[in-house]
Amino acid sequence: MSLFVCSACSKSFLSGWELRRHLHAHADARPFRCSYCTHRSNFKHNLKSHIRTIHPGKPFAFRMEGAAPTTDG
Ligand SMILES: [Zn+2]
Ligand SMILES: [Zn+2]
Repeated sequence: MSLFVCSACSKSFLSGWELRRHLHAHADARPFRCSYCTHRSNFKHNLKSHIRTIHPGKPFAFRMEGAAPTTDG
């Protein structure tokens, strides 16, 4: 049995439409917030490329919605 796995949070689903519905929630949520401006992203790797492009030389830092600042990578 193959599972449909969300690339953003690794949650797995039994059917493709459940995964698609779940991905819409990610698109609406955009929980990853840039530490240097008001940019928000639904995926961590999107925010990473945002920081590389918009804030060159800055370390990768983001805030989860409603969470303390954190760094990764
Ligand atoms: Zn997900
Ligand atoms: Zn930014």
